[in-house]
Amino acid sequence: MIAAALALAYYGFRYADSMSRPIKALFEEYSRQEAEKLIADLEARIDEAAVALLQRVAAERRDMLLPSPCDVERGVAIESFVVLGPDKKLQCHGPAPTSKAMKAAWAAHLRNLNWDPVRVGSYHHYHELTDQGSTLVVYAARRDDDEQRYYVAATIDTSLIARNWLDEALAKFRKNLRVSVVDDETGLVAGPAMGGSEERFLYEGPLGKALYRWRVRIAPQNAELFRVEAERRKVLGPLLIILSTVIMMVGLGIVWLAVRTERRASHMKSDFIANVSHELKTPLSLIRMFGEMVATGRHKGEDAAREYGAIITRESERLSHLIDNVLDFARLERGKASYDFAEGNLADVVERALDVCRYRLEKEKLQLRTRIDLNLPPVRMDDNAMTLVMLNLVDNAIKYAADGGEVEVSAARIPGGVVLGVRDFGPGIAPDEQQRIFDRFYRARTARDRNVRGSGIGLSLVKHIADAHGGRVTVESPVRADDGRIGPGALFRVFLPAPVSDEGAESGARHDVHALGTVAK
Ligand code: ADP
Repeated sequence: MIAAALALAYYGFRYADSMSRPIKALFEEYSRQEAEKLIADLEARIDEAAVALLQRVAAERRDMLLPSPCDVERGVAIESFVVLGPDKKLQCHGPAPTSKAMKAAWAAHLRNLNWDPVRVGSYHHYHELTDQGSTLVVYAARRDDDEQRYYVAATIDTSLIARNWLDEALAKFRKNLRVSVVDDETGLVAGPAMGGSEERFLYEGPLGKALYRWRVRIAPQNAELFRVEAERRKVLGPLLIILSTVIMMVGLGIVWLAVRTERRASHMKSDFIANVSHELKTPLSLIRMFGEMVATGRHKGEDAAREYGAIITRESERLSHLIDNVLDFARLERGKASYDFAEGNLADVVERALDVCRYRLEKEKLQLRTRIDLNLPPVRMDDNAMTLVMLNLVDNAIKYAADGGEVEVSAARIPGGVVLGVRDFGPGIAPDEQQRIFDRFYRARTARDRNVRGSGIGLSLVKHIADAHGGRVTVESPVRADDGRIGPGALFRVFLPAPVSDEGAESGARHDVHALGTVAK
């Protein structure tokens, strides 16, 4: 349970955390990846053009067929280039400059190039923004066959890049993104203009190592949707955190309750063992004492011997009743309780139980009043189990209500079944305990305070048996009599369903009352 609660809380927190990460950050991450693809695409094309030119120049130097190593085809996207000797002195222009301005422009480019980090085999980029547009120079160091170093620098046609390459690359983007390339000097280079609501979710980053003065901008096609989603997540994140915390707390609460219940049950069980042992011990020592007296002839005459014999019988009856209870209870606990249902008459069950208790009733000077309907319908029941029910209820009335002076036992027909009643006139049961006395091992405060012997399983057995018969058991304390007056004591009722039959069913009032008489004091 704890593990489940913790796991739930952990995943809840993680989920909530991921949900609460700003959607802007997620969008930026996604845009960065898209921008990287665009950059890789562009740089591959620039590299391809530069490498092709470098190869042609290298071949030209090797063959020395042409008068100038610059007299080679420029290839795609190369505007013009220069070759410098080992001392970085200009060797030639390709193509030859047609104006002074062109010469001056190249002289300016060469002044701007930083050759220091340039190693043989590598090449570098110089990107510059001017009023007219931008210039991209690729420059590299090479070594020819006789180990002579030379240098090549080429300008790339950036308007071709802006018009063709970028347009092609931008067209490849998903429909849900708006992508453009801008520079600080002239503004928009390629793609759509952006602003307004897009600004909130706008990614902007450099366009790679080559065209580093240009910047790429990416915005979602529908910025409004993004905003709504972001708001939703803002609310959902904390909500999930609260929810997972509540679930965890509830889980821990359940665990705490389970532990408390288990503790209580274990206390009750140890009380039960102590109570049962005590209940076994008392009748056994009485049986032993009076048995020995009879056996050794230490008694005053026949009457006393009979008296001792009666005590031994009574105590052994109590013992077997207790043992029956414990065994039945153990079967119940193991879920192995089984009943032998057959049609029978409850009046017989009541009489059998009263026969067993008669001696104790007499002993406690309790008056027994019985009201058994003569026309009780047959019910489907387990004889022994129902006898145990009656024995437990009457036994409790004797144990707890002997000072009430009377016990009433009744069996009456009611619509749909039969109701058994056992009423005493003793101290009764406090309202807050009336539910709990049917729990296993539960003993009411009065029983504990008055030190009345018991194990706390009798009523739980009664309840189980009543339920198994499709009936139920109730307790009423104090008791409202038929005339509406409230009286002392407790009334236990057991309802059992009977097969539907018309005969006498409508009359709870019409039943014949058959008094079995009162037990002698
Ligand atoms: P036990 O009698 O062995 O303690 P039960 O399950 O038969 O166990 O009864 C549970 C508790 O209900 C008793 O401990 C007692 O406190 C209370 N009880 C049962 N019957 C009566 C009664 N007739 N009058 C007062 N209290 C009763």
